[in-house]
Amino acid sequence: MEKFLYQRLNNKEPKINVWWMYPAIESFAMASLGYLTIFKLLDLNKDLYVERVYSDTQTTQIPPQNIDCIGLSISFEIDILNMIKMLKKYSIPLKSSQRKENDPIIFGGGPVLMSNPLPYEEFFDFISIGEKCCLNKAFEILKNKHSFSRDEILAQLSELEGIYVPKFKKDTVKIIRDNLNDEVVYTEILSDKSFFKDTFVIELERGCPKMCNFCLASWLNLPTRFAPYEKIIEAIDLGLKHTNKLALLGAYVAGHPRFEDIINYIAQKCETKKIELSISSLRADLADENLIKTLVKCNQKTATIALEAGSQRLRDYIKKDLTEAQILKTVETAQLGGLKGLKIYAMVGLPTEEDEDIEILVELMKKIKAQIKKTKQAFEITLSTSTFIPKAQTPFEKVERTDKKTLEKRINYLKKNLAKIGVNYRAPSIEWDIIQSILSRYEDSLADFLIEVVENGGNLGAFKQLWRKYSKIQVLPSYENSTQMPLKNIKAPKWNFIDTGANNLKKMRLGELYSGPIH
Ligand code: SF4
Repeated sequence: MEKFLYQRLNNKEPKINVWWMYPAIESFAMASLGYLTIFKLLDLNKDLYVERVYSDTQTTQIPPQNIDCIGLSISFEIDILNMIKMLKKYSIPLKSSQRKENDPIIFGGGPVLMSNPLPYEEFFDFISIGEKCCLNKAFEILKNKHSFSRDEILAQLSELEGIYVPKFKKDTVKIIRDNLNDEVVYTEILSDKSFFKDTFVIELERGCPKMCNFCLASWLNLPTRFAPYEKIIEAIDLGLKHTNKLALLGAYVAGHPRFEDIINYIAQKCETKKIELSISSLRADLADENLIKTLVKCNQKTATIALEAGSQRLRDYIKKDLTEAQILKTVETAQLGGLKGLKIYAMVGLPTEEDEDIEILVELMKKIKAQIKKTKQAFEITLSTSTFIPKAQTPFEKVERTDKKTLEKRINYLKKNLAKIGVNYRAPSIEWDIIQSILSRYEDSLADFLIEVVENGGNLGAFKQLWRKYSKIQVLPSYENSTQMPLKNIKAPKWNFIDTGANNLKKMRLGELYSGPIH
């Protein structure tokens, strides 16, 4: 069942029909705050009829031949494969150049396309290099789709700030961001089909001022924007009228200037109502006693902190502003505060990482376990790792990825040694990380290749096998070279035409990393 928390429009007389797609199953779509927020925006536009379509949608209300526009947000590189599958399912021409006058206009957005649209741009008629404010303006043009030719509509769209039309290239496209000074984004449709069933999610802030060298969430979202306290409190009240499950979202959630007041407000609500509260991820330097106690009072059993790296040297190099003392203090606070366990996240294969850094990570886990033992209170530690994926638009966009053999050796070391000390370990899938790594920094179109991958099963094997096939005939570079992609030369990557607003800061960081002329 779905519960809409906003007033939908009655008696619409839509000029165009839109499918707002999600490149995965319904339960993930209904858990995605970004997806639901854009749906509401489109739903409240009197000129549009909008339908949600997921990868597991069986039948649509509007048949594909009556659809004027299809949009979707790409959060992970691999989502592109699902997008291709979905377009094929509805027999929609996959590339912009193949679409005729009456075919739908297809647009995309989201972090993958905002940071580097180049490998996928052939699929899209336009790309929103910005947040929801860009789409509002785009739909003012799109609603007149039936009065202009396709090319005229695309030309008009290309004039908008924050909109990139691959057919009408521009030298620079600036990311346009929403003003969050007077609004708060929260779950507008509660659904029992959501992966986080009936959970009311509130976005406290967007971005993170810490600017770790690898972190796309921070570098794509500068400056950090905090939702106003009063609006957050109103949102909490609204959410609690409809559900008892609250989640606070944000890359730097505990950094909200009124975070303590927000937590105290929720704690007070807990006195009279059973609330389940969850928080996306805690920064280890911001997880204080009050927060942990409120989480426990609100039935949270575990929390997650991200260390990124075990050694202080490596944390300093990646600009993760976090000390070992802060980490140990957080573990102590979490345990004494009554949580049952802590999930810890780190990466393997960060630039400059040596075997010694991984040994230090194990040593740190030993210290954590020893500290936990002292209190004789059960407390579970789980370490999850991914392998480092260099992302376009971050200061690490040019670094060479660690080779697969070395990654495997280090992951096996972690498996063996963490098991000995009773730490649960979740190892990463190196192969999928390799593919993400290739896609995130590829500078030319991969449309034909990705279509063939989908036609051959859309799985890991197909991706690798086809890449090798095309590298043999020199259509693609060698797989091994592409996985590591040493961009040590100082040339400016092609994705620099996206102006994130942080390009000068990025150049300074690149200067520190490479101590050479940076373009
Ligand atoms: S502290 Fe976390 S969210 Fe902030 S920049 Fe670093 S990794 Fe990103």
